[in-house]
Amino acid sequence: MRAHMDEIKKERLSRSVEAFVQNAGGIATGIATVETLAGGPPSADLSYVLPGARSAVVFALPLDQEAIERYLAKKDFKSSNIDNRRVNSMASGIALELAVYLRMKGHAAVPVSSNFFYREDAPLGRLEEQPDISHRYLAVRSGIGHFGLSGNVIRKPEGAAIILGSTVTTADLIPTDPLPAEDNYCDRCKLCQASCASGFMSDEEDATVTLGGVNFTYAKRRAHERCDYVCGGFTGLHRSGRWSTWSPARFPIPDNDEDFGPALMAAAGPYIARPKSGVGFFHAMMPRDRGEFTCGHCQYICHPDVPVRKRRYRMIVKSGVVIQREDGALDAVSPDQAKAHIASLSPELRALYE
Ligand code: SF4
Ligand code: SF4
Repeated sequence: MRAHMDEIKKERLSRSVEAFVQNAGGIATGIATVETLAGGPPSADLSYVLPGARSAVVFALPLDQEAIERYLAKKDFKSSNIDNRRVNSMASGIALELAVYLRMKGHAAVPVSSNFFYREDAPLGRLEEQPDISHRYLAVRSGIGHFGLSGNVIRKPEGAAIILGSTVTTADLIPTDPLPAEDNYCDRCKLCQASCASGFMSDEEDATVTLGGVNFTYAKRRAHERCDYVCGGFTGLHRSGRWSTWSPARFPIPDNDEDFGPALMAAAGPYIARPKSGVGFFHAMMPRDRGEFTCGHCQYICHPDVPVRKRRYRMIVKSGVVIQREDGALDAVSPDQAKAHIASLSPELRALYE
């Protein structure tokens, strides 16, 4: 009888946490447990943030698709950036409120930050950028979405344009199943790789993680400094010279992983000295704590509808090269106009960009 009552309570609480997230605007909720995450990488270890943890509630919030398209077409830098920040804050906030709810129900619970928190006890400390908990692992294992080739979590109808959040708890919850592998819309179109100026995703090797006996595969990730360098705004001109991210800088993008650290160091001074566009975020590991989100292509391009995906790729590669005006404003111009603009700058100003 006691065991039966415990099962009923477990079922009720599992449904309650799902409804909790849904009421806050979540588009999908999953539950992962110590068992369903067993054998995973270190950032699938729930006990890292909460000794005695048994479950995690993971959820997704949608990003603004229209703002994404204006961003990819290099017409509007600001709206998508602010939306991205706001949705990340909402994800962290929902995780906190859900933790409070679970604590009030008598269970230990901790919210996991949506982003920007890294383990200090990794071999290279926070420089390794290893999160305390990887929302991605929890999300694919609990059925929120699939891994795309990019390594981003993708789902219909939002594609990869989602932000994930999680709450870890000692509550015993009922795990949800992964989505059927055959429903994964990723067709290995490789547009995520084609739109990545940094070469972060290997086009030769895959990586597989095993979580609770289930395998998940995506393109092996190269040095994270690649994405830091390009998505973080230190540079942005694609090696073709025909298109860029929203970064107005055109420092060369190295071929080899080991050259990205020195390239980042070299680009940090100009990064600090460039006028600020007024759009960005705070990040403890960025120069002077100010980050600029200038890419996100691999995430934003990955729409479930192939025509939309292709259109977004054309937006990226046909919308030109970003330059910066004296007041900090960012404008997309043709590749030749961008070259002429850079050539017109004084040597001191030019050194901020190339
Ligand atoms: S862009 Fe294409 S290859 Fe990359 S994750 Fe999306 S569907 Fe897969
Ligand atoms: S955000 Fe940009 S630089 Fe980073 S991996 Fe994605 S496409 Fe590459």
